[in-house]
Amino acid sequence: MAQLPFPGRSGPDAGLRDGASYTIDPLPEEPRAALRTLIEAGHEAVLVGGCIRDEITGRGATDWDLATAAPPEAVSELFPRSHWENRFGTVTLPGSPLVEITSYRTESGYRDRRRPDAVAFGASLTGDLGRRDFTINAVAWRPGDLAGGHGILVDPHGGIEDLRSRVIRAVGDPDERFGEDALRLLRAVRFSLRFGFAIEPRTEAALRRAAPSAATLSAERVRDELLRLVGDASIQPSVAFARWEELGLLSVLLPELSALRGVPQGKRLAGDALDHSLRTAEALPATDPVLRLAGLLHDVGKATTLADGHFIGHEEVGAEVAERVMRRLRFPERDVERVTTLVRGHMFGYRPSWTDAAVRRFIARVGLDRLEDLFALREADSAASGAGKPTSGGMDELRARIAEQRRAPVETRQLAIDGHDLQRVLGLAPGPGIGRILARLMEAVLDDPSRNERDTLLDLAREMPDR
Ligand code: ATP
Ligand code: MG
Repeated sequence: MAQLPFPGRSGPDAGLRDGASYTIDPLPEEPRAALRTLIEAGHEAVLVGGCIRDEITGRGATDWDLATAAPPEAVSELFPRSHWENRFGTVTLPGSPLVEITSYRTESGYRDRRRPDAVAFGASLTGDLGRRDFTINAVAWRPGDLAGGHGILVDPHGGIEDLRSRVIRAVGDPDERFGEDALRLLRAVRFSLRFGFAIEPRTEAALRRAAPSAATLSAERVRDELLRLVGDASIQPSVAFARWEELGLLSVLLPELSALRGVPQGKRLAGDALDHSLRTAEALPATDPVLRLAGLLHDVGKATTLADGHFIGHEEVGAEVAERVMRRLRFPERDVERVTTLVRGHMFGYRPSWTDAAVRRFIARVGLDRLEDLFALREADSAASGAGKPTSGGMDELRARIAEQRRAPVETRQLAIDGHDLQRVLGLAPGPGIGRILARLMEAVLDDPSRNERDTLLDLAREMPDR
């Protein structure tokens, strides 16, 4: 029930504790029906984790996690349209809101600190809650009267009290918990920032000790956690990565960013190139986490290019470093390309003296679909430099001039002829030579769009000396 605003000063209602009755209102039909199906088939089933945490603090749950005594095979039989992630026994129901069903389990033997070696099913709810990461995520709700959304809270680790006193505390021994799964290091920081909670001192001390083990995390898990961090509108990147740095996580996971610490930025606002990078990411929208990463990485080339007070070519070096980072974290190709294009392009300097052809070449270099991204990055970069809006006069003019050129062809596929025409009409053999000719024709058309006519282009191609 949404009793309290969140983040609230007082946290969950005073009466809430282990064994207290609690009504979820409204309990959406999807988790209600899933609970009913399991219980009617004779299996114990509860709601657990983030959804209960978010309900009792008044935030309201968005996803619903069910835990059940039924083994995974029984769950997938009861929900034939579900998707079964075999190894971890998590069954995801189709549709939204997201409903996931996980069989009670206890995990053992995290040899590589990535994934449990063995997952034992058939354990009890107590066992299941005991293997969860933080006390605030280890509270369950056992349904009584499903129709009314009434049930009982199960909180053996004092998670409700920790919600009230606003702390992130590991379940059980923190050294053991971080030793089992290094992702919990990053989750602790994220939850602490998202809710504005402190990390409990013993948990934080263990986190610091275990920070180097973040190096053993799989790239995919780091990537997903990074996206959740910068994609969370309630978390400020400047605070988040400063915290990563202070806890010893940044140098392990993103050493390229750590290297910006102490590098002068020569901008109006205080701080070094790392501070500036974090402010830039922060000035970009959380709804576009990959764009925020471009902001984070845009000056990453500055660590190695400082000479005579200037950072010669830092955008080129930076694009290479950013590409390496993005590939290491196994980002999809389109994200790698997007970030490197933005890093490479972020130093553009518009002058009113640019010819229309120069404007078209700029569009061609950046790519039509990257222009808005690049402007957003530039504006964030200026804001993060303390330059504010003064440069935006020029930006507005450039935008207007780009709009004037909207119809001009800027990509080879917009040319009035293609590679087949060149082969057919000029009798050229297929191969890379065709691409080179098209690129040169594109240059000619960028200079003068009126050349974009079939006969003109074929004539130009014929005249090319070394085709
Ligand atoms: P969010 O609101 O970010 O989804 P959440 O707490 O729901 O927060 P999930 O990643 O969806 O986080 O995980 C659901 C639950 O599974 C958690 O509340 C926690 O009980 C458990 N959990 C998730 N990841 C871990 C982990 N690495 N170690 C232990 N328990 C975990
Ligand atoms: Mg969740």
